[in-house]
Amino acid sequence: MSTETIEFQAEARQLLRLMIHSIYSNKDVFLRELISNSSDALDKLKLAAYQDKDLGADTADLHIELVPDAEARTLTIRDNGIGMSRDEVVDLIGTIAKSGTAELLAKLEEAGGDAESQRNLIGQFGVGFYSAFMVADRVELTTRKAGTSEGVHWSSDGEGSYTIEPADDAPQGTAVTLHLKASDADDHVHDYADPSVLRRIVKTYSDFITWPVRMEVTVPAQEEGGEPTTEDETLNSMKALWARPQKDVTEEEYAEFYRHVSHDWQGPMETIRLAAEGTFEYQALLFLPQIAPMDLYMRDARRGVQLYVRRVFIMDDCEALVPEYLRFVKGVVDAADLSLNVSREILQQDRQISAIRRRLVKKVLSTIGSLRDEQPEKYETFWDQFGRALKEGLLSDPDNRETILSVSAFPTTHSEGETGGTTSLAAYKERMKDGQDAIYYMTGDSRSSIESSPHMEAFRAKGYEVLLLTDPVDEVWVDAVEGFDGTPFHSIAKGQVDLQSDEEKEQAKERQEEFAELCEWMAGVLSDDVKEVRLSSRLTTSPAVLVGDEADMTPTLEKMYRAMGQEPPKVQRILELNPTHPLVVGMRAAHAEGKDETETAELLAGMALLAEGGELTDPSKFVTMLAGRLERTL
Ligand code: ADP
Ligand code: MG
Repeated sequence: MSTETIEFQAEARQLLRLMIHSIYSNKDVFLRELISNSSDALDKLKLAAYQDKDLGADTADLHIELVPDAEARTLTIRDNGIGMSRDEVVDLIGTIAKSGTAELLAKLEEAGGDAESQRNLIGQFGVGFYSAFMVADRVELTTRKAGTSEGVHWSSDGEGSYTIEPADDAPQGTAVTLHLKASDADDHVHDYADPSVLRRIVKTYSDFITWPVRMEVTVPAQEEGGEPTTEDETLNSMKALWARPQKDVTEEEYAEFYRHVSHDWQGPMETIRLAAEGTFEYQALLFLPQIAPMDLYMRDARRGVQLYVRRVFIMDDCEALVPEYLRFVKGVVDAADLSLNVSREILQQDRQISAIRRRLVKKVLSTIGSLRDEQPEKYETFWDQFGRALKEGLLSDPDNRETILSVSAFPTTHSEGETGGTTSLAAYKERMKDGQDAIYYMTGDSRSSIESSPHMEAFRAKGYEVLLLTDPVDEVWVDAVEGFDGTPFHSIAKGQVDLQSDEEKEQAKERQEEFAELCEWMAGVLSDDVKEVRLSSRLTTSPAVLVGDEADMTPTLEKMYRAMGQEPPKVQRILELNPTHPLVVGMRAAHAEGKDETETAELLAGMALLAEGGELTDPSKFVTMLAGRLERTL
């Protein structure tokens, strides 16, 4: 195989251009990215060698090495880790295989020239290897996959293409050589061929890396006339952060570690530590990010917790340790008493792991709770980013339902809650009216469509607070969750509502009799679409409204089914009439005189459907009837 020149994928090219034209204010971080990749490669090799005794890899002295060359103006970052095959180089380095790249670029476009928001966006994404082009005109990579014999050489100037060719005598692992930009040499702070600059950057960003990061340094002669010698200096302390006493670790160290495990460019929102001793010994260091990753709500989003066993990296994305609804939590769990060969399947059934998981979930939830109590602004950001994911737990984790509800936030009709437009359920309960025995809510597409829905009329008139639930997941959990703190949830669009005073009830009873015949007749006329027609106590201004039975599917849920390509079972709803509305009053009178009001009944039902954002089964029939009516008023 000879040299091949390959074009970068269009997205990769665009992203590279953004990178090179200095989106980052701090170029030093390129080294963190490359060391982080090397560290991952060493983790992977160690694990692969455990799992496959016949791998034939050299694991004797696993380390990372920095080789600055001031004369040639290059810096090489080398590791003897897992390495890459030719196909992997093309896949992993030549393309940006991450999901969400296209969305990222679209958003970057939207953000326009605003460097700060571009930085934030890229930060959510993390560009890793490509950051090398911030400081280099040309990057070369030589690699050989552990256990194989063919090396690969890759080279690119980061413009449009790269070359790839076989490399015969490549050692196991990966070496990345940066041909440093001339402009950085003048400025001593950014001279990346200067050992003292490298020492400082490693100390700042990569001190906790568990593999030695070495650099050959010159030691002046000990005695007069002697020759200077060289020796390997280890630049990092290699101390696992989670094993050090909390008081000895600085915020900045936590933040760097977070960036390493999360591939996020920003710091964490919150750092969580927990540990247990005795029979089930473990330590955990967890983080809540500030911003949700692009793929949080995509299928198969990964979980962010890594498993270590006695400081040895075992796996990323450890689903046995965190439930899916907490997939945004990042960090590390180091368990003392597991086998290094443990598999995902075994972990799922391991009692120790499930005990850790339970504790971890409780701790994360209580951290969210204290955020709300102590730092409402942070909580608001958190909720905005991760609330939807957290609410999935209401369905998947019944044991923690009550706790999840208690740390959740809901928009309400009485807005300006304690966190800008949302309320906690505890606060809602405190505001409940005398005699109110349920937490009222309504689900829908948007806040405005719920607020203008006829279902809301009586609640608004009487000042009852209603939760406005607009996330798709809300449609589902409200059916599964019975109540909060002993108070049931009640949809204002379902069942009967009882907001009337005794006097009003008395009046309603009389009307019931008055309208009984009309209701019965209408139920017959509309029997294809509704199962019952009755008088309403929900309405003040609208003539009619459709409501469901307690167990019925809501119109929004029906729409969601259709959006997923499924036809939901047909639900027959209940038509409620407002007996004080002139249209309904007039209709009753006309019907009593023996006039045929079939068309009015159909129009009324159609209007009720439209008012709640529903879709008519026969829109053209409706329009024809309506046009006829209007014509007669002219
Ligand atoms: P990330 O580290 O977030 O996956 P990067 O752009 O930093 O993204 O790296 C892309 C991929 O290239 C890595 O996931 C890894 O598979 C591969 N890679 C990069 N550097 C090395 C290395 N030194 N050794 C082995 N594989 C590497
Ligand atoms: Mg990386």
